[in-house]
Amino acid sequence: MSGPLLKVESLTKHYPLGAGLLKKTIPVVRAVEDVSFSVEAGETLCIVGESGCGKSTVARLLMRLTDPTAGRVLIDGADVAGLRKHELRAWRRRMQMVFQDPYSSLNPRLTAGQIITEPVENFERLSRKQRNALAADLLQKVGMSPEMMNRLPSELSGGQRQRLGIARALSLNPSLIIADEAVSALDVSVQAQILNLLLDLQQRMGIAFIFISHDLGVVEHIGHHVAVMYLGRIVELAPCEALFARPVHPYTEALIAAAPVPDPTRVRQTAPVEGEVPSPVNPPSGCAFHPRCPLAIERCQRELPPLVPMADGRVVACHVRAPVSEASKQPIVAGISQPVALRQWNLHNQLFVGIHG
Ligand code: SF4
Repeated sequence: MSGPLLKVESLTKHYPLGAGLLKKTIPVVRAVEDVSFSVEAGETLCIVGESGCGKSTVARLLMRLTDPTAGRVLIDGADVAGLRKHELRAWRRRMQMVFQDPYSSLNPRLTAGQIITEPVENFERLSRKQRNALAADLLQKVGMSPEMMNRLPSELSGGQRQRLGIARALSLNPSLIIADEAVSALDVSVQAQILNLLLDLQQRMGIAFIFISHDLGVVEHIGHHVAVMYLGRIVELAPCEALFARPVHPYTEALIAAAPVPDPTRVRQTAPVEGEVPSPVNPPSGCAFHPRCPLAIERCQRELPPLVPMADGRVVACHVRAPVSEASKQPIVAGISQPVALRQWNLHNQLFVGIHG
């Protein structure tokens, strides 16, 4: 099958606040606004941003744990909203999730073996022998001894519990795993082990990941592409190396500046972003980042900046750093002529994840 494994088009989620019986307009939390991206098989897209930026809501929308207000999610070109019941079940097998807190996401009364095989047994009956063989195989895949299959989650360390969560996610042989802050509750040394495990599984099994994190050090280690979200919108989406080498959006720049620097001799070029994230119930007009942006101009308060494709394959929403007039003069990604790339952008409102291989 050609084309991206996952394509997200203009995904939007608003949560109404209260019933509003006597009010003409009901206030809404604008959790996700017009988010589009695509993910190729075997790639990792990281979604980053401060707490409350909408990244976890995107994960919930992709998993159909909540319905979108608008927009589409396509897997292998098929719109998930249009799938019939049996097709939806098959689709669910293909996308699995790993959660931040392995302890609260695992049933404390089930053994490791039961936790791992439970998703498969929702689809098919397994004999005891098949169950044990599957559990042993998956435990080995995540670097644990098969002898641990009879242990309860409380008898495992934090790192082992997260490995168990990954083994459970692998049990249905998914094409895509969404990892929501999957290593943020772990010690740094255990984090590194889990990240290396994910990279290894990706290489061996060709799994795509959507990796949601606030930790840019982790993202730099694992991502192929990075989407930076601010107050529900993507403000920059770029190949990982390019993003860290040259952040373009002022918010991306500030996030990278705020990340801990392992080298004490490295001097920060930019000040970390100051102030609080505004309320998603009443976001600022124009560019929502303008109250915190050191580069803001008058236009930023009036007009929402569009996401503009840049010469190196990234897209950026900023009137100052990615003005439409300037970007339209630039050639786009290698191998794609500028008019074609812009036409694709305009017609499909699609981000260029995976196009520039
Ligand atoms: Fe800053 Fe204006 Fe760019 Fe928004 S559009 S990031 S406020 S310069």
